[in-house]
Amino acid sequence: MPRPAFEGHLKTMIIAIDGPAAAGKGTLARRLAAHFGLNYLDTGGLYRLVGWTVVRSGGDPADPASATAAARALDPAALADGRLLADPALRAEGAGQAASKVAAIGTVREALLDFQRAFADRDPGAVLDGRDIGTVVCPGADAKLFVTASVECRAARRLKELLDKGEQAIGERVLEEMRERDARDRARSVAPLVPAADAVVLDTTELDADAVFAKAVAIISGRRPASL
Ligand code: C5P
Repeated sequence: MPRPAFEGHLKTMIIAIDGPAAAGKGTLARRLAAHFGLNYLDTGGLYRLVGWTVVRSGGDPADPASATAAARALDPAALADGRLLADPALRAEGAGQAASKVAAIGTVREALLDFQRAFADRDPGAVLDGRDIGTVVCPGADAKLFVTASVECRAARRLKELLDKGEQAIGERVLEEMRERDARDRARSVAPLVPAADAVVLDTTELDADAVFAKAVAIISGRRPASL
């Protein structure tokens, strides 16, 4: 559903960045937000927070009742402040796995939808990254990118990230977890990971972060309303 125009120009600009884990979405989305002067929301952080909250309280993130209760208990005002999502514990692979389990539950996704849409609609607009931004959360986004890379490349990047942080990690295990999470995100019945029909696919396997950013800016600027 396209968003309404206000006196011939769009009031806000929304950029949707979707794709699998460790494809470079977060880095790209943050840089785009700074470049275009937009707000930024890492929607994966919301699912990580819900999944991790359930795990920390001793529950099973795949259990719909516990996961839905945790999602509904999130306070939008506290989320908007950003500190909740900045918890380093949410970045660990355990939180990523828990996130992809709660993310397969329809009532969890519903509970997080209004917050994401309200965030996107705030002036002057936003860059959101996730799995279903262009397909479900903001189907009327002004620009949609689907950022991807081979699973081997994504696992190698994630491994480097972990080792750089001083964490213990084994390449084969990281690759296995990446495949497991990809499979769960692609196979789920609600909001599965697929590019929106009108998304531009950006394969970052052979590109560094600067090259990805330059391509993304070119794609978005080509579509950017002249009034913004
Ligand atoms: O992007 P990130 O790796 O932080 O996301 C963690 C998990 O949250 C993903 O594997 C996916 O299952 C889920 N997610 C989602 N929809 C989004 C963002 C994340 O299902 N919009």
